[in-house]
Amino acid sequence: MKRGSYLRSVLLIVLAFAFANLIIYFSFPHGVIIYWTLYVVPLVIAAFVYDVYGVAVIGLASVGAISWWLYSSISSPEFYRALSIQSSIVEIVVGVSIFLLVGSILGVLSKKQKKQQMALELLSVHDRLTGLYNYSYFLDRMEEEKKRADRYEKELSFIMLDIDHFKHYNDTYGHEQGNVVLKKIAKTIRESTRDVDIVSRYGGEEFVVLLPRTPKKQAVDVAERIRKSVEVLEFPGNKEQPIVKKAISGGVATYPHDSKDAAGLVVKADEALYEAKESGRNKICIAS
Ligand code: GH3
Ligand code: MG
Ligand code: MG
Repeated sequence: MKRGSYLRSVLLIVLAFAFANLIIYFSFPHGVIIYWTLYVVPLVIAAFVYDVYGVAVIGLASVGAISWWLYSSISSPEFYRALSIQSSIVEIVVGVSIFLLVGSILGVLSKKQKKQQMALELLSVHDRLTGLYNYSYFLDRMEEEKKRADRYEKELSFIMLDIDHFKHYNDTYGHEQGNVVLKKIAKTIRESTRDVDIVSRYGGEEFVVLLPRTPKKQAVDVAERIRKSVEVLEFPGNKEQPIVKKAISGGVATYPHDSKDAAGLVVKADEALYEAKESGRNKICIAS
C-alpha cells in the first residue's frame, strides 16, 4: 500500500471507531459495558475494507475504549452497584477476543479473495508464458479500436508476425528452450512498439500488433523495426552450435483500406504473412 493511502485508511478507521463511540456514548450513557457489542460494526467494516491491519487498529482501540469506560464506571457508585464488575470483565475479555478472532478471519479471507481476484484478472487478459495480451483480449480490443477509428476517422493498422522455422528449433533444442525464445521475442516486440499499441500472442509462435491511429507506411516501419530487432537476438543452442539466430516474418494490413471489418483485416494480414513466408522468410509483406 502507498504511504498516502495507508494514512488515509488509518484515518478512516479511527473516524469509524470514533463514530461508533459517539453513538454508544450518547445513546446509552454509562452503557458501554452493556452495549459493547456495537464495536463489532467498525471492526467488520475494517476487516472488509482494510484487511487484517484495519482489524488490528480497531481491535486495539476497542480494548482501550472499553477499559477506559470500565475504569470510569468503577468510579461511579451507582453503576458499581448496578453491575457485577467482575463478571463484566470476564464478559468483555471473552467478547473482545471473539471480535478479534472473527475480525482477523474475515480480514484474512477478504485479503485472500482480493489476491485471487487480481490474479484472475491478470490471467484473463494476459498470456501466461509471454506476459503479452492473450487472444481473447486482442479480439475485444480489435472491435473497440475499429469503432474508435470510425469515430475519429483514423486508420487502424494491424501486423501479424510468425517466427520462422520454429518447429525446427523446438525439435532440435527442446520445448523448454523454445519457450525461452518465445519470451525473448515477445519482449522485443513489446519494446519495439508504443505503449498505446496492443501486442498480443495470437497462437503458438504467432504474435499480432494493433496500432491505433497509424497509417500503413508507419505500421510497415514498425514491423521492419521488429523484424530487425529479432534478427540480431542470440538464443541458446547446444554444444555443436552454442548460439542460434532466429528470424520473424510479418504481414501488414490497414483499416479501412484493406478491409471494412476486423475479421477481414486479419485475413489480409495473414495473406501478406503467407507471401512473406513464400518469398523467403525474414521479411515483411504488405496487404494489397
Ligand atoms: P514457418 O517458418 O513456416 O512458420 O515454420 P514453423 O516451423 O515456425 O511453423 P510450424 O507452424 O510448422 O511450427 C510452429 C511450431 O511452434 C510448432 C510448435 O513446435 C511450436 N510451438 C507452438 N507453440 C509453442 C509453445 O508454446 N512453446 C514452444 N516451445 N513451442 C511452441
Ligand atoms: Mg505459425
Ligand atoms: Mg512459424
